[in-house]
Amino acid sequence: MRIEGASAVVTGAAGGIGAAFARRLLERGADVVLADLDAGRLAETVGSLKQEFGERVRHVAGDVTTDEGVAAVLTAAARPVDLYVANAGVFAGFGLEASLEDWSTSWDVNVLAHVAAARALVPGWLEAAGPEAPGGCFVSVASAAGLLTQLGSPTYSATKHAAVGFAEWLAATYGDRGVQVCCVCPMGVQTQMLETGRTSEDAEATLGMRAVTTAGAALAPSDVADVALEAVSAGRFLALPHPEVATMHARK
Ligand code: NAD
Repeated sequence: MRIEGASAVVTGAAGGIGAAFARRLLERGADVVLADLDAGRLAETVGSLKQEFGERVRHVAGDVTTDEGVAAVLTAAARPVDLYVANAGVFAGFGLEASLEDWSTSWDVNVLAHVAAARALVPGWLEAAGPEAPGGCFVSVASAAGLLTQLGSPTYSATKHAAVGFAEWLAATYGDRGVQVCCVCPMGVQTQMLETGRTSEDAEATLGMRAVTTAGAALAPSDVADVALEAVSAGRFLALPHPEVATMHARK
């Protein structure tokens, strides 16, 4: 998938990994719609990107877990979207004490948001696909917790496994018909989400996160975007920003 000139969407783009994806895509010549539920944080991020990249930056404040929410994001783009980064995510609840509401929110944001986007985009991408280039590319920002078990948070681990499973299904079903899929599985990235887990009262939940941060292995958000966009450019399915994750996954 060619990034220069692409019409891209990044969800959960108000900060962290999503904002890094948006910046990298803009630097490489794509037009980008940034979408996020947090209108205040999104406005700050968009303000500085607009100063640098002007009209190529658009944004939508809203929920991307529904068909209507996804439609609003796609409508905001100047041209049909051919690169969708499903990055919005939540880390809600620990252990068996996680409430059913935590489970429901995690399922909606970490899984259904991906399904809603694919339902809206894949039919058009199949039609647009040519012999030389895919009709579009779907980037699933899952997690190493979707390949390995993350201690402490069953909501996160189970829904990220589901996100990886959905991305694999998309690639297996449409990959040879012009729809590119890339699944990114990072571990321990310096963002608001990592801090929430790291400072939680739940000993098990914080274990894995403390291990990566105290070992100095936590990545910068831009590292994740760089590894993922390299995989997108090369047409690779799996992007594993940590070599350790690849080794652990291979042993599983
Ligand atoms: P973050 O909390 O900074 O970003 C997540 C963003 O998603 C937030 O801005 C939030 O407002 C937005 N969001 C949540 N629900 C939404 C909804 N319904 N509609 C629209 N936006 C919504 O955290 P991050 O670390 O940058 O996370 C980005 C992605 O990377 C997530 O999917 C996360 O699971 C994944 N990830 C993070 C890490 C890590 O260590 N930080 C590791 C692996 C995977």
